[in-house]
Amino acid sequence: MSTYDENNIFAKILRGEIPCKKVHEDEHTLAFEDIAPQAPVHTLVIPKGKYVSVDDFAARATDAEIGALIRAVGKVARLKGVADPGYRLLSNIGAEGGQVVPHLHFHILGGVKLGTMLVKV
Ligand code: 5GP
Repeated sequence: MSTYDENNIFAKILRGEIPCKKVHEDEHTLAFEDIAPQAPVHTLVIPKGKYVSVDDFAARATDAEIGALIRAVGKVARLKGVADPGYRLLSNIGAEGGQVVPHLHFHILGGVKLGTMLVKV
């Protein structure tokens, strides 16, 4: 498991050093619009704690943090109007998973009928 990088872009957003278009915030989570949306709805949900990935989060986060993150995903999906038609929830993990920003984040993608989950590699 890689060490948490305090200078990753989402850490800077959490510290208020760079702006974001906030969608939701609570004690344990923050949700904001992706800067380069891949669908009409593309919102990111992150824990406020310093976790690199789902792997790291599952190993170290408290039950309260884990519960809050999943509840925030549900809340944001409803706020964005995609809960009923449906959406895709995605988290890239590590190098082979294609993770670019090393702070755990869930992508909520929707607002359109999405295509095949993966292009076969
Ligand atoms: P990953 O590839 O790590 O799963 O996803 C990282 C996501 O962060 C990408 O969808 C990318 O567009 C988004 N992103 C990168 N930099 C910024 C930023 O400065 N602000 C916001 N709001 N999103 C960002």
